[in-house]
Amino acid sequence: MHIKNLRHTIQIALTLFLLYTGWQFYKFVLHVQSSGSAPFIDKPAAVEGFLPISALLGLKQWLLTGIYDPIHPAGLTIFLAVLLTAFIFKKGFCSWLCPIGALSELLTGFRIRYSKTNIKIPGILDKSLMSIKYLLLAFFAKVIILDMSLKDVQAFLVSPYNLVADIKMLYFFLDIGKVTAIVLLVLVVLSIFIKQFWCRYLCPYGALQGLLSFLSLFKINRNRDLCINCGSCNKSCPGMINVSEKQVVNSPECTGCLNCIDVCPIEGCVTVSSFRNKLNLKPLIFAGTFVGTFFGLLLIAQLTGYWESTVKLETLYRLTPHLDLLKHP
Ligand code: SF4
Ligand code: SF4
Ligand code: SF4
Repeated sequence: MHIKNLRHTIQIALTLFLLYTGWQFYKFVLHVQSSGSAPFIDKPAAVEGFLPISALLGLKQWLLTGIYDPIHPAGLTIFLAVLLTAFIFKKGFCSWLCPIGALSELLTGFRIRYSKTNIKIPGILDKSLMSIKYLLLAFFAKVIILDMSLKDVQAFLVSPYNLVADIKMLYFFLDIGKVTAIVLLVLVVLSIFIKQFWCRYLCPYGALQGLLSFLSLFKINRNRDLCINCGSCNKSCPGMINVSEKQVVNSPECTGCLNCIDVCPIEGCVTVSSFRNKLNLKPLIFAGTFVGTFFGLLLIAQLTGYWESTVKLETLYRLTPHLDLLKHP
């Protein structure tokens, strides 16, 4: 099986799982909104993975006090799993697991299949646009890590707004406003014609992983002696990296997707390796170890009590009917 097909299979499976999770969460919200009269269904904690700001605040609290956020523990666990795996497997989360990354690839795939139009952003503009995601990341880091005191962080984490942040997020998408709909539509159209538009230019989560991945244990290596300079690796790279000009790919845009290994016609020319090429992993082993480590961390968290929220149902019964009144503290 081509590694690309395996990757797409995992992306599709996870996206379907998340859609199912979203449906379960919707039924849970119907229950709390009816103050218990609609049928009860357990809250799927995985939805907290869509609350990265709350997770960042939880991380700060954990680092400063040792208290692991009891409000959205699954959100913090998923955030930590993404960051920890970036230290080993580059931005593997982006290419193997993130549903938005999968959608982005799907949109690019549509364009390649049905249209020859491909807007290539010239070098300087491309670099300038790429700085947006780092500026957004710097903004969040400044506001949350530098400016917010521990007291403010803790006040936010226990605020009614944060207690129902996941429910508010659900309604944000269900009851989408005109402006949000237009912005999303523009992003989708741009992502069709400009490869990885959101991920490459705007996503601060990807930017953070990219920075951590500089320290990543495993990197893509090219053997100059074997390379025949066919350029296939460059064309297949979603990060638009000229792999054929590198010996080691150190770019924060490398997502560890392994496309370059998949398409290289010379066996052993492009590899994923560590310790100056001494530890060479087969692509399947790299993929299996990454996915296994990521979900292994989530499983350990579930078994050791770092997954289920301690927010009581009665609290949600009380707060959910007043969602519109709950504003950011
Ligand atoms: S850059 Fe952001 S949206 Fe894109 S795949 Fe990575 S985490 Fe997901
Ligand atoms: S695909 Fe392989 S042989 Fe072709 S340029 Fe890239 S590294 Fe060299
Ligand atoms: S360098 Fe290879 S592994 Fe990295 S993003 Fe490009 S194609 Fe994927």
